[in-house]
Amino acid sequence: MLSTQEKYISQEIIETCQKLHSKNLLAAADGNVSVRLSEDRILMTPSGKPKSFIHPEDMAILTLSGQVLQGNPSSERKMHLKVFQSCPEAQAVIHAHPPTAVALSIARPQWKEVPCESFAELILAMGSLPIAPYARSGTSEMAEVLHPYLQDGARAMILQRHGALTWGESLMEAYMGMERIEHICEVLMKAELLGGATPLPESEIKELYKLRSQLGPRLL
Ligand SMILES: [Zn+2]
Repeated sequence: MLSTQEKYISQEIIETCQKLHSKNLLAAADGNVSVRLSEDRILMTPSGKPKSFIHPEDMAILTLSGQVLQGNPSSERKMHLKVFQSCPEAQAVIHAHPPTAVALSIARPQWKEVPCESFAELILAMGSLPIAPYARSGTSEMAEVLHPYLQDGARAMILQRHGALTWGESLMEAYMGMERIEHICEVLMKAELLGGATPLPESEIKELYKLRSQLGPRLL
């Protein structure tokens, strides 16, 4: 049984899943969303269900170390737990499969991050957008490859050939980060199709990074 507070947060998670689905950021039973209820309790979307059709009673609860207290949490829960364990400020984690971001990571396997130098929005909204190396979904390895990026303070990252992951101090921050990843990748892909992205002047790039550092660590 969920408490009133847990039901309320479940409803927020469900609305977020519906938004992700309507924006084509996840298909079928893909993707998962989690919220920290307290220091040691995580509320998470269930495994194997289409995320735009779930109900509050489908939600699962687990501890920070992965002990399942209720329901059947996502098969990709290790990634979420890794974020909550590594980043005490993390209140919400979203994993989705944004198609353009995944396509870019497939077409440009040599990229360690999405190139920033042509796009002010990327620098201002998230500082950088790393691409974590491929690991099979649901494995401990998938959680471990995130480690250096989380240590670096990344709140948004593409998972090569798979999807993307964002976290925030609120569900809204994590959601906006996911929407932003796909938007940035769409613009970049269109620029590539039109002949290739052109860089901003170096002095402007420096100023943008300065501005970003003043804005703080949040995804915008
Ligand atoms: Zn996935």
